[in-house]
Amino acid sequence: DVPRSFPSAVDVAIVGSGPTGAAYARVLSELSPGTTLAVFEVGPALTDPPGMHVKNIADLDERLVAQRRSEGVHPHTATKAEAALTDPTKRVVRPGTHVLPDGFRQPGEDGIPALAMSSNVGGMGAHWTCACPRPGGAERIDARPDLDELLDEAERLLGVSRDPFGDAPYSDVVRERLGAEFDAERPADRYVRSMPLAVQRRADGALTWSGADVVFGDVTRDNPAATLFPEAQVRRVLVEHGRAVGVVVRDRRDGTDHEVRARFVVAAADAVRTPQLLHASGVRPPALGRYLNDQPQMVFAVRLRDVGSTAADQHDPRGDTAIVQQSGVSWVPYTDANPFHGQVMQLDASPVPIVGDVPAPGTVVGLGWFCGKDLQATDRVEFDDDAVDEFGMPKPLVHYTLTDRDRATLAQAARSVRRAADALGEALGDEPFVLPSGASLHYQGSTRMGAVDDGTSVCGPTSEVWDVEGLFVAGNGVIPTPMACNPTLTSVALAVAGAREIAARLAQGVETQTTSG
Ligand code: FAD
Repeated sequence: DVPRSFPSAVDVAIVGSGPTGAAYARVLSELSPGTTLAVFEVGPALTDPPGMHVKNIADLDERLVAQRRSEGVHPHTATKAEAALTDPTKRVVRPGTHVLPDGFRQPGEDGIPALAMSSNVGGMGAHWTCACPRPGGAERIDARPDLDELLDEAERLLGVSRDPFGDAPYSDVVRERLGAEFDAERPADRYVRSMPLAVQRRADGALTWSGADVVFGDVTRDNPAATLFPEAQVRRVLVEHGRAVGVVVRDRRDGTDHEVRARFVVAAADAVRTPQLLHASGVRPPALGRYLNDQPQMVFAVRLRDVGSTAADQHDPRGDTAIVQQSGVSWVPYTDANPFHGQVMQLDASPVPIVGDVPAPGTVVGLGWFCGKDLQATDRVEFDDDAVDEFGMPKPLVHYTLTDRDRATLAQAARSVRRAADALGEALGDEPFVLPSGASLHYQGSTRMGAVDDGTSVCGPTSEVWDVEGLFVAGNGVIPTPMACNPTLTSVALAVAGAREIAARLAQGVETQTTSG
């Protein structure tokens, strides 16, 4: 094989090809044509176009292979050709993701045993459920007064549909029952509604789930100045005199290292590996890795009352790509008085398997209530300089505890889930239960945004790291609030603001900050 060549210099180096890294590439392709962009991704490309959601892969075995290839060094999804790795710790591990082999819990703490990541072009965005709710109340980010406009733009990039399953047979039933139960006690803008989803329905009814491919869009794929490098791991951000000036990339195909100079570097490598990369680069602001925030999650299942007698109800939709069509996905929005985010969806469409046997698929819905965490500086991921992880980077060690307030919120969420279940039908199981931390797949806060540099944030309102000009962070780690709703839409919104800032500075021909968020 001819060795790959890497550019010696680009304008913008983007680390990670999930939805937020892709958003930087997209917005810069739109606003700054001619700007040279390189997207480096540690994992392989699974699809053509790169970054597609694996649910769009019709062939089941091909889909399993794609999931397996996303699972890092010790893949666990069984395919026709390869048996599954049995995880002796029996932690919840979703297809397409891998968990930390150890270091996820320190003695005497709760830890985040199910803390997961994906290592593939498209990141977790090749495997996600595509729920795209908007934050409300204390979930919102004060440092961005323009958040709503940014969220509009994020919806465009992600291809969000407001009510893609409005005509699903039971979607009205679910929404009306939940609305009757909850709406009277909440403001109108937080009424129960359909969950906005990053999915498009084609004229023939087929569904296309959005992955990073949708975020990149044709404008990035057609941009001759933009290049995606799969199996290319960024080991270090180069910082000189307080400025990011490039990255060191390891070609995972042959193990060679390459220096790529850059005017701007965007670290969009997920909420564990972005702080890990900064740490490895000697960029260690006091808040790095702190205020780590996983959404404690309460779940339950219920069989819908008075539905399920028609022939269509008997269709077993597991394995279909259109499985959420029967009951849709409903949303009980977060409010400050009820600081949790409710997601109600057909159980067999959920990535969270709650019961093994689903008697009449489509009539059984899963209820997942994600809670806002009581944020603490002591909840943190730190990195061991003397040990390495499976990718040869400083080893993550997670410190994490639930507080009394977290336990009170979970108890309140349990009562709310119980009410929802009783409103919908007959509960399967005795009581709602808490999933292991990390199961939400929504951990945040480790590179958080702040309005001012007071030691409690890593970056400012444009996502540029305090004290390191030209270094931007992206992803759920940037979210500073106790957000309970699914975070991707918000993270993409924050990425839009960061990309606009870079575009503005490139247009002015200056690397240093001249505008403010
Ligand atoms: P990621 O998508 O995690 O991408 C980061 C990328 O960086 C990865 O591809 C990784 O391999 C790469 N990388 C890491 N380190 C390096 C390095 N050193 N060099 C180069 N590359 C590197 N969110 C929602 O909002 N709604 C949902 O309904 C939802 N459902 C989910 C369901 C599942 C099963 C899963 C797995 C996730 C779900 N999520 C959901 C979470 C969502 O997928 C993430 O919030 C989103 O993908 C984050 O985007 P990102 O670009 O910040 O990070």
